[in-house]
Amino acid sequence: MEKKHIFIQTFGCQMNVHDSEKIMTLMERSGYESCDDMRKADLIIINTCSIREKAAQKVYSQLGRLKELKREKPGLILGVGGCLAQQWGSKFIERIPFLDLVFGTHNIHMLPELVTRIEKTKAPVVQIEFQESVKSLNIPALSSNGKISAYITIMQGCNNFCSYCVVPYLRGREESRSFREIADEVKSLAHRGVKEITLLGQNVNSYGASNSNGHDFADLLREIDKIGGIERIRFTTSHPKDLSDKLIHCFSETDKLCEHIHLPVQAGSNRILKMMNRCYTIKDYLEKVDKLRAVCPEISITSDIIVGFPGETDRDFQATIDMMKKIRFDGIFSFNYSEREGTDAAKLGDTVSIFVKRERLRLVQSLQEEHTIEKHRAHVGNIVEILVEGMSKNSREDMTGRTRTNKIVNFRGNHELIGKAVHVKITDAYLHSLRGELTEEEVTKC
Ligand code: SAM
Ligand code: SF4
Repeated sequence: MEKKHIFIQTFGCQMNVHDSEKIMTLMERSGYESCDDMRKADLIIINTCSIREKAAQKVYSQLGRLKELKREKPGLILGVGGCLAQQWGSKFIERIPFLDLVFGTHNIHMLPELVTRIEKTKAPVVQIEFQESVKSLNIPALSSNGKISAYITIMQGCNNFCSYCVVPYLRGREESRSFREIADEVKSLAHRGVKEITLLGQNVNSYGASNSNGHDFADLLREIDKIGGIERIRFTTSHPKDLSDKLIHCFSETDKLCEHIHLPVQAGSNRILKMMNRCYTIKDYLEKVDKLRAVCPEISITSDIIVGFPGETDRDFQATIDMMKKIRFDGIFSFNYSEREGTDAAKLGDTVSIFVKRERLRLVQSLQEEHTIEKHRAHVGNIVEILVEGMSKNSREDMTGRTRTNKIVNFRGNHELIGKAVHVKITDAYLHSLRGELTEEEVTKC
């Protein structure tokens, strides 16, 4: 029998990228084969994000483009999953009548059954009910085969209810995966040649809090540190309020944990942080940064910043700038505040004009560029360890990899190096990457 083809397009964060890998694994098991050309596909899944209005708009534009393809190929099954699907449910089909399937963030494991139902009945299906225990947490993504790096979901959902954020409403309450299952999946990935794993969750450092399985996130890191074959451990994302001293000490006490933390601060004004329901002050945040740097002086710290939260004054915004100058992040993701229906912040109105938001975002981004390039330049002359990921996008003669501090380094090399940890002397620094040359010399910085 001829194989059917599936094409998945992913919008949004690493969690969504990994959910798409799980979807692919499930559908491959039920006879589908992945394809890179959506025109050849029998099943197209759009894995959506609705964290900001811009992300949602991109999904609608893409679905608009698919209308023509659906007309040419009426047998094509077109499905949407992820946060936007969870948010809209059956209204999605009212808005986009040529959709066949809408499935929510807790329903990934049901996908093969839902697709079979559509194949048989030719009728659209909407499945967005939350489950008490999220079964997709435990689906291993077999498509990691042959990869150097892999994601592992360790928890799902969020209990924090930051006032601007839709995640708790669309991904449900926090649920941690069992300690044993995670360790077993890491072992199985190591067995398949994976060298670097990234532990994923909306707030990984509250791992274990909701199911009290007796182990916290620091325990999990220490357990994974012992697994042979894995060379690097990363995690994302951490909430500053849950960053414990025990976890901070893992940066000096575990060998494989990489010297990088993504620690979203969101704003520099205590007044705004309170309205955001972030549960820390800037003083608390600075103390955590100091502790991290004391325990691990080479750690790279990245963050998320929102500008234009309702009621943000020039003075509040200046506090964000002052905080950035004090901390000097290695990198940030920065966003204009985007009002999300149903959140507490939406009740405050979207009071900062788009012109003011744009100007504040420009100032934040240009200041960060100064800091990033300054940090990158400080690496010139250092010898660093790179885990080689593949060929560089810009030149067929160059290979690319990352330092333990998560900086991209390009260097002259060949394919045989893929998957290996090599030493590279940094020769040049740019805004988005570093350049270096292979060396036999000992590492001087991570
Ligand atoms: N759970 C993570 C955390 O708390 O750091 C990340 C959540 S979210 C996927 C990633 C980032 O999107 C947040 O850190 C925040 O900066 C941004 N974000 C979330 N909601 C937003 C909104 N309504 N407007 C603008 N940015 C938003
Ligand atoms: Fe959203 Fe806050 Fe939860 Fe992060 S911690 S997912 S920003 S509610």
